[in-house]
Amino acid sequence: MLKKTPFKNYQTNVTLVAKILGLSDEYVKKLTTPNRIIKKKISIKLDNGKKKLFEAYRVQFNNARGPYKGGIRFHPEADIEEVKALAAAMAVKCAVVGIPLGGAKGGVTCDPKGMSAGELERVSRAWGKAMSPYIGANKDIPAPDVYTNGQTMAYILDEFEKFHDRSEPGVITGKPISLGGSLGRDTATALGGTFVLREFVAISGSEKKGLTVAVQGYGKGVGAAVAKILKQSDYKIVAISDSKGGIYCADGLDPVEVEKVKDKRGSIQDFADGKSGVKKISNEELLSCDCDVLIPAALDGVLTKDNAGAVKAKIVLELANGPTTPEADEIFAKRGVTVLPDVLANAGGVTVSYFEWVQNVGGFYWTSSEIRAKLEPIMVKGLKDIWQISRDKNVTLREAAYVLGVGRIAHAMKDRGR
Ligand code: NAD
Repeated sequence: MLKKTPFKNYQTNVTLVAKILGLSDEYVKKLTTPNRIIKKKISIKLDNGKKKLFEAYRVQFNNARGPYKGGIRFHPEADIEEVKALAAAMAVKCAVVGIPLGGAKGGVTCDPKGMSAGELERVSRAWGKAMSPYIGANKDIPAPDVYTNGQTMAYILDEFEKFHDRSEPGVITGKPISLGGSLGRDTATALGGTFVLREFVAISGSEKKGLTVAVQGYGKGVGAAVAKILKQSDYKIVAISDSKGGIYCADGLDPVEVEKVKDKRGSIQDFADGKSGVKKISNEELLSCDCDVLIPAALDGVLTKDNAGAVKAKIVLELANGPTTPEADEIFAKRGVTVLPDVLANAGGVTVSYFEWVQNVGGFYWTSSEIRAKLEPIMVKGLKDIWQISRDKNVTLREAAYVLGVGRIAHAMKDRGR
């Protein structure tokens, strides 16, 4: 397998739009250099009594537009190259949707699936303790990402507040509601993506009725949630997968029933057992299955020059971060496949994280319908903005999003005299 180069992909995207924005090489360098990289070795006691060291990271990429913001990923393949790329994308994402935050990302190289709840708690607490001097409500605000969740955030908040001896719920988002989490955060990424998709379908004059959808990755907050929301909005979900493989059904799947089987038996593919018309497929097959909308909602770098030519979908809604390589982007552009780019498509999550932070700082909490009513216009405006730029400059929607996001970051850096 080719080594993935997510940070190079980010650099390629910035270099491309720098020409359009007329940014000097010096600016490109600043926009592609993280402000700070924090690497720590954290040590925890395993259930068998032995000690184990893990690599822990926080990359604070850019804070020209506001405090650093970005998730924490626990994954065996999490490394500094990946975390750097994700941190950079966060800065662009916050700028695209116009929320006053910068970009960061964190991670621990570990295999959460092979760890007990107690071991995960100790890793989360160790990350929180090690990073406590570097994060804060007006400094750097972490959140969940792959294989971390509200519980992880609760442990980190607890460590941070012990370390600083004060209450500061705004230091972290994606927390449980009991600790100051926001209503609607759990499904915000998926919901925001559906607003972007709906608006694109309307603005581009695409066929609206009965669009078929394939979702790669079935995490509760993103993949499973988007499948459920789209099913309720008259889309037909024809394929779903998780890390163990996927299923395809031309007549449509019920995401709620699929989730029940996944929760009970541990794998989506078990849903196919004994059902005619539902066939087991690999993750690779899912990417090229017969559908109108493909939603990568798992890991980065899955759509490449090797498989982009085989994708049958006409729309790719990027809910995962960085699922499409620049080479695949070129192939999609030539083939007329529209990519709704991650820096807008999945920005619903960070937007509601921003709402959570605003509520924590203000000490005043909103209802679910207030959250939804505030999220929708932000996502719709984001799509309209990048659509207009793509028309005016004759560029793809990703390039348009980078023109908007990188342009706003560069503007803030210039205003600061950086
Ligand atoms: P998660 O850990 O809840 O879920 C990940 C899902 O992907 C799981 O169902 C897992 O089985 C599946 N998966 C893992 N490896 C896979 C593979 N090789 N092929 C297919 N499926 C695989 O994570 P999440 O929070 O849902 O995040 C998913 C993606 O969305 C990530 O790229 C993340 O960066 C991005 N994202 C998440 C949020 C958020 O609010 N959670 C916000 C923005 C972007």
